[in-house]
Amino acid sequence: MKIVIVGYGPGGATAAVTARLFNSKSEITLITEETLESHRKPGASMALEFPDTSGLNIEDWSFDTLSEKRVELITGTQVTGGNSKSKEIHIEGPSGKKNLQYDQLLLATGGIPAVPDIPGTDLEGVFTIQTIADTSAIGNQLSGMQSLVVVGAGFSGLETAERLLSLGKDVHLVVRSRLMRKQLEESMSVELQSRLPTQLNVHVGKSPTSVAGNEHVEGIVLGDETIAADAVLFMTGVRPNIELAEKLGVKIGKLGGIVVDDLMKTSIDSIFAVGDCVEMKDSLTGKPLLLPIGSTAARAGRQAGVTIAGGSKKYDDTLRRLQYDRIFDTDIVVIGHSSTTANESGLKFSVQYFEDPTEFAKVALVTSESGQLIGGQVIAPRMGARLGYEILERVESGAILKERPLLKPRHARLREYLESTFGPIQ
Ligand SMILES: Cc1cc2nc3c(=O)[nH]c(=O)nc-3n(C[C@H](O)[C@H](O)[C@H](O)COP(=O)(O)OP(=O)(O)OC[C@H]3O[C@@H](n4cnc5c(N)ncnc54)[C@H](O)[C@@H]3O)c2cc1C
Repeated sequence: MKIVIVGYGPGGATAAVTARLFNSKSEITLITEETLESHRKPGASMALEFPDTSGLNIEDWSFDTLSEKRVELITGTQVTGGNSKSKEIHIEGPSGKKNLQYDQLLLATGGIPAVPDIPGTDLEGVFTIQTIADTSAIGNQLSGMQSLVVVGAGFSGLETAERLLSLGKDVHLVVRSRLMRKQLEESMSVELQSRLPTQLNVHVGKSPTSVAGNEHVEGIVLGDETIAADAVLFMTGVRPNIELAEKLGVKIGKLGGIVVDDLMKTSIDSIFAVGDCVEMKDSLTGKPLLLPIGSTAARAGRQAGVTIAGGSKKYDDTLRRLQYDRIFDTDIVVIGHSSTTANESGLKFSVQYFEDPTEFAKVALVTSESGQLIGGQVIAPRMGARLGYEILERVESGAILKERPLLKPRHARLREYLESTFGPIQ
């Protein structure tokens, strides 16, 4: 059997490694436009299924690792089209143009950075980050610049701002509404903002109306205010990269992503898709959902890898939002639904907040109408992952929060403390 995978991000790389694990005989070829080795690590979620990670080599997807797994890696090469009836794709790279046959094809083509439709985004000094090669080229160009603007305060915007600040740049972070609006409750955004370093210039509630400059960026205009800047990095999300899927005639959904079923199969037999390029169905509501995050791409890659290798296992956690990052010395953990995503999915929910003063941690827990824990967020200076794991475990098991409380509210802890000293309080 010949398995061909397009894309060397967490989705494609995890699928390749998993397919090899389940099928020692198949030919596996991974094709990517990228030229540099991938060092991203979201594939670590595979360790949930295979605790003995030594055999997985998920710690890196270097060229050597893939070669040890007998995955043929074709880099610097674009898949320009194909024919799903004759099961072939057209590729173009350093060794010219050719056609490749497949039995099973996986599209893991990722996302395309979404840039707001405002004047000036075509100026020199406007950047988006897509591949590692892009990022290193941008790093070189930024080295001579001092005042930089990052637009967008999701995980990637915050990570980028942190990195630039650590390089000694003057960094402005422009935030349309609030920090990580989609993932965090409002008071959690406020909590996170309070933990940002004072050297970072944060402009909350501001949208760029244009990028100023003639040939090169000179600043960014936020309505009636202009910030002088040498470069602007738009970290304002991605839209699914469906160019190849469309050429192959694969069905595209209402949200603009490739439609896949629970096994990551597209509308065409023997073509599968995972990662930022797909739209899946919310496990609670069945509504279409875009979830452009690395850990989801890796989990979906694991599912697709099993399926294309001929396995029948179906994982229940493919759709789970699970993000952990440590930014500005703060653990940020996001699991399942926030009130923003629950609202978008038409779910009825309530949110409770807890503080653990001993750990300086703040936690938000989102429960459904029936009291089931459907999501949670943690902001903590340390040990956030431990709390996150407890939330994840309850969300995955469909636990009713009252029956399996996580942290006790401050007044309940105080009452317990007083009762232990003075006896029962009526
Ligand atoms: C700065 C930054 C920080 C981030 N931080 C986090 C984080 O902390 N946690 C998290 O979960 N997520 C994070 N993300 C998001 C995460 O990186 C993406 O969700 C993830 O990479 C998506 O994986 P993917 O496999 O779908 O596609 P990608 O990683 O986007 O890979 C797509 C691949 O497809 C290839 N490709 C596309 N079209 C073709 C073609 N026609 N021919 C050949 N090759 C093609 C590309 O070359 C590339 O290799 C971050 C993103 C950025 C930019």
